[in-house]
Amino acid sequence: MRVLVAGANGQVGKHIVRILAEEGHEVRAMIRSEDQAPTLRDLGAEPIVADLEKDVTHTAEGCDAVIFSAGGGPGSGAEKKETIDRGGAEKLVEAAREHGARRYIMVSAMGAADPESGPEAMQPYLLAKARADQTLAESGLDYTIIRPGSLTDENGTGMVEAAPSLGKRGEIPREDTARIIVAALERENTFGKTFEVLSGDTRIEEAIDRL
Ligand code: NAP
Repeated sequence: MRVLVAGANGQVGKHIVRILAEEGHEVRAMIRSEDQAPTLRDLGAEPIVADLEKDVTHTAEGCDAVIFSAGGGPGSGAEKKETIDRGGAEKLVEAAREHGARRYIMVSAMGAADPESGPEAMQPYLLAKARADQTLAESGLDYTIIRPGSLTDENGTGMVEAAPSLGKRGEIPREDTARIIVAALERENTFGKTFEVLSGDTRIEEAIDRL
């Protein structure tokens, strides 16, 4: 598949790009600055410079799928949560529809199912994620919304637990998060589904089959 990755230079994004390329997908890596291009080329992607706070419609042209793994980051305020985490994701929903990219995977977050129950400081972020998720779910695209717990930089183990609601909080390495995203890409049983994921004791492929 030809896949647009938003947030490609991010910590999860780089794993996504590398794994997609290793699996033979054509990757278009959305980056904010030309300086980031050599890194993404080395990982096997064709970079495209674009800013989610501006017009990004063209970035999905010719793509079969979009993976949204961008975000304003923990240092960004409520306004950026609206313009990037929510607005950027929603712009790419529109771009995907316009260009016939039927598949869309959203990297959401655990807690987005019920933003009000999260810590107050997290609410703008969780609300932005929840709204973007809702827009995607209503888009008519073949969507999957993946809600990881707290991300860590540990090496991936390939072992997770995944379910629409896990009923607990926890952690998962960024590498395993990327692996489950790529594994879900062409698995039709994940179309139209929203699920949480944490480190666990089930192989990623098996965890996906059970969804
Ligand atoms: P990250 O390293 O901060 O990556 C975010 C990426 O988004 C960066 O590459 C950044 O570009 C890009 N970005 C920011 N603003 C942009 C804009 N205006 N236009 C285009 N790109 C823009 O985040 P991560 O740790 O990989 O997280 C990946 C995803 O997981 C995010 O959606 C995050 O919300 C979600 N998540 C995080 C956690 C957690 O524990 N941290 C938990 C659950 C879900 P630059 O490289 O140029 O800065």
